[in-house]
Amino acid sequence: MKLPIYMDNQSTTPVDPRVLEAMLPYYKEDFGNAASRSHAFGEHAREAVENARAKIAHLINAQPEEIVFTSGATESNNLAIKGIAEMYRDKGNHIITTTIEHKSVLDTCKFLETTGFRVTYLLVDREGLISLEDLRKAITPKTILISVMYANNEVGTLEPVNEIGKIAKEHNVFFHCDAVQAIGKIPVNVQVMGIDLVSISAHKIYGSKGIGALYVRKRNPRVRLVPIIHGGGHEDSLRSGTLNVPAIVGFGRAAEICEHEMNGEAKRTLHLREKLRKELTEKVGEVHLNGSLEKRLPGNLNMSFQFVEGETLLNEISEEVAVSSGSACTSANLEPSYVLKALGVGEDLAHTSIRFGIGRFNTEEEVDYAINRVVKVVKHLRAQSPIYSKATVGKV
Ligand SMILES: *Cc1c(COP(=O)(O)O)cnc(C)c1O
Repeated sequence: MKLPIYMDNQSTTPVDPRVLEAMLPYYKEDFGNAASRSHAFGEHAREAVENARAKIAHLINAQPEEIVFTSGATESNNLAIKGIAEMYRDKGNHIITTTIEHKSVLDTCKFLETTGFRVTYLLVDREGLISLEDLRKAITPKTILISVMYANNEVGTLEPVNEIGKIAKEHNVFFHCDAVQAIGKIPVNVQVMGIDLVSISAHKIYGSKGIGALYVRKRNPRVRLVPIIHGGGHEDSLRSGTLNVPAIVGFGRAAEICEHEMNGEAKRTLHLREKLRKELTEKVGEVHLNGSLEKRLPGNLNMSFQFVEGETLLNEISEEVAVSSGSACTSANLEPSYVLKALGVGEDLAHTSIRFGIGRFNTEEEVDYAINRVVKVVKHLRAQSPIYSKATVGKV
């Protein structure tokens, strides 16, 4: 076992060796431009891209021509939301989203508010779930888009996408879903779920960074978008720019591996996550699970450790186990996470929260190591904490 252990797979995932292997020829002999029609170099590249597109489409039960390659899910979210807003402006100026979306959705919506759009940010409950009743009530004749994520990146909560899809359809409103964390981990089926646009990112499914996709429904109903990047007309004119062929090939391979291994992998990561959760709960005590126990991404665990200083805890753990904190990502900014806040987690507990992201390459041995390390650090910090000794007087 090698230290430090990587256990932050909601942040990014390592490239699967099989993905890298698929990519390498496209950095070497198969370096052609997929838009060059006049020779075999271009033809090989184009075939490889189309092959990858088909694999990604297959993973979510879409058609290949419904997949648009982007630089990642941040761009996909921007293209989906701005693209719909611009295209259907005459129909309405109202968008519905949630308070716990990724910043690339929230900040895009905030930007649109400065250009005359009205945005409803649905609140979530203690588990991070939106209320379908609230959603129904928020829809007006001016609503053109509902954008709700499938799995939250911090607390792993799974939103009721099937029901949201039905409600969207009933009201003739488009449904965009940031499914970055769900894709490849749990089944996503755009037909069954009634999703019109889906954002995907390769580096969250063991592919490379800087490549992603947007699924854009072509029929029942056909979704039209105004592009945000103009140029040579690549990707059906929705996203101009020379395609990153090696990254796309890897993305396709990554999607294919996910499709084949998803069921087994979900069981395994769920087992490891539950082991982590149960043992930490038993051995540390005074811990709180953030998010939902049932409606949760298999590999995600977000826990708060009462009576410890969050920053110190994270620092001492992360020398050996790489995890994320529930405070904002910049160490200069110690604001607690807006997602935990939205769930109603108090500031104190939000500050001591840790997100464990268990992924494909984590082993049981690593999970055991992480448990021991966290138990040791938390006990040590609590032993030094005046608040802890005060709070536990008479209890021990
Ligand atoms: C990582 C992530 C994104 C952004 O994806 P990039 O490809 O890194 O731009 C968007 N939404 C969610 C839920 C994410 O986890």
